[in-house]
Amino acid sequence: MPETSGTGDGAGQVLGLHLGMSGRILVSDPAGGLTEGGDRVTGSVTGGAAEQADRRPEWTRFSITFDDGGTLRLFDKRLFDKRRLGRVRLDPDLTVLGPDAARISAAAFRERVGRGTAAVKARLLDQSVLAGVGNLLADETLWQARIDPRRPADALSADDLAALYRALRAATRAAIRYGGVHTGTVIAHRHPDGHCPRCGTAMQRATVGGRTTWFCPREQI
Ligand SMILES: [Zn+2]
Repeated sequence: MPETSGTGDGAGQVLGLHLGMSGRILVSDPAGGLTEGGDRVTGSVTGGAAEQADRRPEWTRFSITFDDGGTLRLFDKRLFDKRRLGRVRLDPDLTVLGPDAARISAAAFRERVGRGTAAVKARLLDQSVLAGVGNLLADETLWQARIDPRRPADALSADDLAALYRALRAATRAAIRYGGVHTGTVIAHRHPDGHCPRCGTAMQRATVGGRTTWFCPREQI
């Protein structure tokens, strides 16, 4: 395995981890304590006992062991749909990615996201527009900003785009602080019996940008 450590001069190759539709990153410390990240497909609680039992070794697609004995694994339960699997690349082409969603300026966000007739959620998910927004983070952000995910991106006002930018920043910070995007306020309500945690309206399902989407039809306009 080539060296991947370090930054700047003398840095090793960049290790690119792509989570696909359902991949997750599992990190263990040298003592075996587990933390995890990545988009969640089901609503189960992180690290729950039921899920631990579900973690079969053949679902680990890739793993590395650090010098201190800790490990990083790319985990994906989808065995049969290769198009959607998480994958790993050495020295991936990062020039195809847009600016990092956690670092983009308000002006650049407005200019890049508010363009074209595609649904605003599809723009948020397009990694060449903005890198780092997955399906759950997009739903949480649009719900926080009270914007219908199906609206054409170029139909959003400057105020809409500013609200969306603020919501993305807040949702990203909260996800980092609380341990993942599945901790977002609306995420647990993304199911057929779910109700909007703000106004109580039944959540509505749609497919936007090819992804399952849940939103509040009363407030997200
Ligand atoms: Zn609502």
